[in-house]
Amino acid sequence: MMVPTSSHRSRVVVVGAGIVGASIAWRIAARGFRVTLIDKAEPGSGASSHSFAWINAGAKEPLGYHNFNRRSLDMWQRFGEALADDGNIAGIGLRWGGKVSWETEDDAAQRLVSQVRQLQSWGYPTRLISASELSELEPSLDVGDVTAAEYSENEGQVEPQLVVDACVRRLAELDAAVHTPTELVGFSFDKGGRIVAVSTTSGDIECDYVVLAAGTATTHLASLAGAYIPQAESPGVVIRTTPVRELLRNVPVVYAPGLGNGRQEIHIRQCADGRMMIGEGNQESLAEDDSQAHADDLLERACHYLPGIVGAEAIPVPVGWRPMPLDGYPVMGFTPEVPNMYIALTHSGVTLAPVLSQLAAMEVCDGVNADDVLSPYRPTRFARTKAR
Ligand SMILES: Cc1cc2nc3c(=O)[nH]c(=O)nc-3n(C[C@H](O)[C@H](O)[C@H](O)COP(=O)(O)OP(=O)(O)OC[C@H]3O[C@@H](n4cnc5c(N)ncnc54)[C@H](O)[C@@H]3O)c2cc1C
Repeated sequence: MMVPTSSHRSRVVVVGAGIVGASIAWRIAARGFRVTLIDKAEPGSGASSHSFAWINAGAKEPLGYHNFNRRSLDMWQRFGEALADDGNIAGIGLRWGGKVSWETEDDAAQRLVSQVRQLQSWGYPTRLISASELSELEPSLDVGDVTAAEYSENEGQVEPQLVVDACVRRLAELDAAVHTPTELVGFSFDKGGRIVAVSTTSGDIECDYVVLAAGTATTHLASLAGAYIPQAESPGVVIRTTPVRELLRNVPVVYAPGLGNGRQEIHIRQCADGRMMIGEGNQESLAEDDSQAHADDLLERACHYLPGIVGAEAIPVPVGWRPMPLDGYPVMGFTPEVPNMYIALTHSGVTLAPVLSQLAAMEVCDGVNADDVLSPYRPTRFARTKAR
């Protein structure tokens, strides 16, 4: 019996050099395939540049999706070491130490306790902590009154731009092509409905496979090939500050309670260069106020809990649009409409980049289906919706 093996010289065009597309391109090129990565703009300048970039599996439901995120979280260290120059994960801003959050109001505290209990029942390393433990864990915080607090010790953060830049460097070492600015504008098909070339603003590129990892543009680009990949609009705002001295020395990610009067909870983390990132609400909160006034308000709220930021200036960042599949879950796999077009569309793409890139590379390069893991996330679920 002949055991099927992959054809190493297959040509793969990856569309979109965000953290998802760049990671997939790197993994496929590392398998010996001839990869061309294209982006209509600077690599990393899409949603990845707006991301809070917290690596986590909390607040991810149901259990299967939680475990999928957990698996990727657990892969990040090895993924980062393989990707970063000389294996130095600090070079891509990968940092561990966990996340703390706390609540002051009874109702919110009760919800926090329930969430911790559920995550613990799933075996996730999170736990309730006292106010004094919270202050000891991260002495730079001025936590105020605490009704309930939590510490999720295995979570972390990374800098998506540095990850994308590292992917581009690895791709160059693997003799893969990276073309920017090069916009995908159409496809050419053979009689069997397979894509034989992509049309771009830099000319046609012949290919055996196309990976669409174009973030929010994936819906439109897939439709050009006749595939239906619906998304929801999901605007988000995470502001920056001017650099401050190192503050969050122990716990990189902080969720602090709202201050009343519609001022929701905020999340704070510190970049490797000392800038703070501040957003409000949860991971999916819709926000479109990218004004200086709103940035100033977010900074003021952060100063309430992290006095060391006082004196920094708030730098507003334009609204970022999360790639957001209509049902909120990843879309991974070849489409039923076009057999050699692979979709890689997801929210939480920073957390999920290691697992998505590994599975996409395996499915494209080995011609196999990782159905036991990916069946909930197949593009076919939308084809069925459309047909009804
Ligand atoms: C405010 C905000 C906060 C977030 N916080 C977190 C978080 O804490 N943790 C987490 O895990 N995730 C978070 N996310 C989600 C995460 O950032 C995204 O899931 C991830 O960045 C998506 O990466 P991507 O590569 O799929 O898309 P993108 O980064 O958007 O990349 C897509 C690329 O495709 C290119 N492109 C588009 N059209 C074309 C075309 N026609 N031809 C060629 N190229 C094209 C674009 O220029 C872009 O560079 C957040 C997102 C936002 C916006």
